[in-house]
Amino acid sequence: MLCLDEVSSVRKQVKGWKSQNLTIAFVPTMGNLHAGHMALVETAKNLADKVVVSIYVNPLQFGENEDFDAYPRTLERDKAALENAGVDILFLPTSVMIYPDSPSQSIQVQVPGISSVLCGESRPGHFTGVATVVCKLFNIVQADVAVFGEKDFQQVAVIRKMVKDLFIPIQIRALPTVRENDGLAMSSRNQYLSNEQRGIASTLYQTMTNMIDKVNNGCDYREVEAEGRESLKKHGFRPEYVQLSNRDTLLPATTLDKNAVLLVAAWLGKTRLIDNLSLKNGN
Ligand code: AMP
Repeated sequence: MLCLDEVSSVRKQVKGWKSQNLTIAFVPTMGNLHAGHMALVETAKNLADKVVVSIYVNPLQFGENEDFDAYPRTLERDKAALENAGVDILFLPTSVMIYPDSPSQSIQVQVPGISSVLCGESRPGHFTGVATVVCKLFNIVQADVAVFGEKDFQQVAVIRKMVKDLFIPIQIRALPTVRENDGLAMSSRNQYLSNEQRGIASTLYQTMTNMIDKVNNGCDYREVEAEGRESLKKHGFRPEYVQLSNRDTLLPATTLDKNAVLLVAAWLGKTRLIDNLSLKNGN
């Protein structure tokens, strides 16, 4: 596995592969890799001849009082996992490279509409940070396909819209959420939870599956959301949003939206957990 930290070296390598008609899949990450990330890498390997993974904790997508400094960084362990998985390039950009004139002086990619609801409402600027860094990474790597996790459902929607609107020549794949045995969606932020909170955390998934059952039994969407919110509070969460959404617009779903998705963000102490389940084929 090549570990590269310069745009020119990534470009040179990718250009060489393309001249041999080899295809390239790209998996952008913030590191601290777990089985969810590795599932994306496995799929990337099946989708293309060569796989590029990036690790970069992007300051622009963190709010002022968020966990940028505390975000877990485990580079040596991540490197070993990626090497073992047969990744071809590990790209390790620096902030000087991505934001030469500081993040605030960078061109920023704003995706209107879907960026300002749900997570975008409580994390203003977050999706602009995500779209900006992913756009830059796409331009550097120039892969044929990029692989993301549905765990971050709204993020995938933002990226799909960016790619479509900016005519970026890349295919986007989104994979189902990988979960712990008790249903908790894997996330680097789960390690912020105390033992007691980790026990409670699985009730998020249980509450969500109960909500899906109720919807499938014909219950009213808004009532199901209200009950879900109450149930989370009883378990000790502070729900931020609990919404059955149209999966394209992310606006509140109506019973006409056969293809809705349940989107939840909830705080457990100082940890913010997000999760989602699709109505028909919940994962
Ligand atoms: P992150 O390092 O958290 O920015 O995530 C990098 C990629 O991994 C994103 O596309 C995430 O959606 C994806 N990802 C994170 N957690 C999971 C999970 N539990 N299952 C599947 N994909 C995930």
